[in-house]
Amino acid sequence: MNTPNIEIPTRAPSATATDDTVMPFEVAKLDLRGRVVRLGPVVDEILEKHAYPAPVAKLLGEAVVLTVMLGSALKIEGRFILQTQSDGPVRMLVVDFTAPGKVRACARFDKARVAAAVADDTADGGALLGKGHLAMTIDQGPDTSRYQGLVALDGGTLEDAAHEYFHRSEQIPTRVRLAVAEELRAGEGGASHWRAGGIMLQFLPKSPERARVADLHPGDAPEGTAPHAIKEDEAWVEGRALVSTVEDLELIDPALSSERLVYRLFHEPGVRVFRASEIRAECSCSRDNVEAMLKSFSQDDRDHMVENDKISVTCEFCSATYVFAPREVGAKV
Ligand SMILES: [Zn+2]
Repeated sequence: MNTPNIEIPTRAPSATATDDTVMPFEVAKLDLRGRVVRLGPVVDEILEKHAYPAPVAKLLGEAVVLTVMLGSALKIEGRFILQTQSDGPVRMLVVDFTAPGKVRACARFDKARVAAAVADDTADGGALLGKGHLAMTIDQGPDTSRYQGLVALDGGTLEDAAHEYFHRSEQIPTRVRLAVAEELRAGEGGASHWRAGGIMLQFLPKSPERARVADLHPGDAPEGTAPHAIKEDEAWVEGRALVSTVEDLELIDPALSSERLVYRLFHEPGVRVFRASEIRAECSCSRDNVEAMLKSFSQDDRDHMVENDKISVTCEFCSATYVFAPREVGAKV
C-alpha cells in the first residue's frame, strides 16, 4: 500500500502585506500557536469617525486589535464583546466583534481629565484606564447562555490585562503585543491614517504540567515572601523571548507582511501559517432596530425625547443618525 503524501509544502514567506487580516500560525517544534493581526483601513475608519483625542483613539485601537485577536480565535457563530469599566479618564471602552470578521468600537471618556493627562504627559494606556475591570462576553444569540470572563484593571495596560486573564482564568501561558500609531503619508496634504497591529503567542503543550508558569505577582503574600519558583518549560521561555523582541513598528509597518514577521521570529524552529481571515469595520445598527428600541421605552421617556417636533438618535458606535417623526414611534409632540 502506498503511503499517502501528507508532507506539508514549504515555501518562502509572502512579501505582500495585506491589511485588515488575522493570520494564525503554529511553531510545532516549540508547541506554540499564535495569530498576527494587521489593521489598516478598518481601524482608520473606526477611529476617524469618532475623532476622539489621540491618546483615547490609540487606546481604543489597542482594544480593537485585542478583540479581533481573541474573537477571531473562537470557533463560534455570534458575538464577542470586550468592555472595560474603570475610574480613569477613559471610563469605558466597548469593542464588539461579530464572527467571522465584523468589528465596531466606541469609548466614553472625561474630556477635561483626558486633556489634563495629555498636559501632564501621563496619557498612557494604563493611566487613562485607571482601576476597574475588563469583561469579555461571548453572545451566541437570544436562546443561549452568555459566557463572561472578568479581569481586574489595576493601572496596567490592556496587554497586562490580557496576560492576567490567560494566566488566571485559562491557565495558558500567553504573550500579547499590541501597537497603534498614526501614519503620516506624503502627498496627502499632511493627512494621517491610523494603523494597528498585534501578535499573540500561546504555549499549548500536550502534557499540561509543561504549561505551568510562575505567578505574575506574588499576590497578597506577606512582604519578603519569595515568589513561587517554577522552572518554566524551555520551549515557552524561548517563544516568549522571541515575541518580546517584536517592535511596535514591525506590527504596523505596511511594507512588512504578517508571514515575513513570523518568519523573522521563528525561521529557526520553523513556522507554519494558516489562511488569513478578513476583518471589516461594520456596524450592526439599523433604522428598524432603533425604532424597536424607542418603542420599548415608556411613553414618558419617548415624549421627553421629542425635540423640534422630531426624535433623533445617534449610534454611539458609528455616529449614524436616525430621525423619526414622533407619531412613528408613538410619542406625543
Ligand atoms: Zn451604528
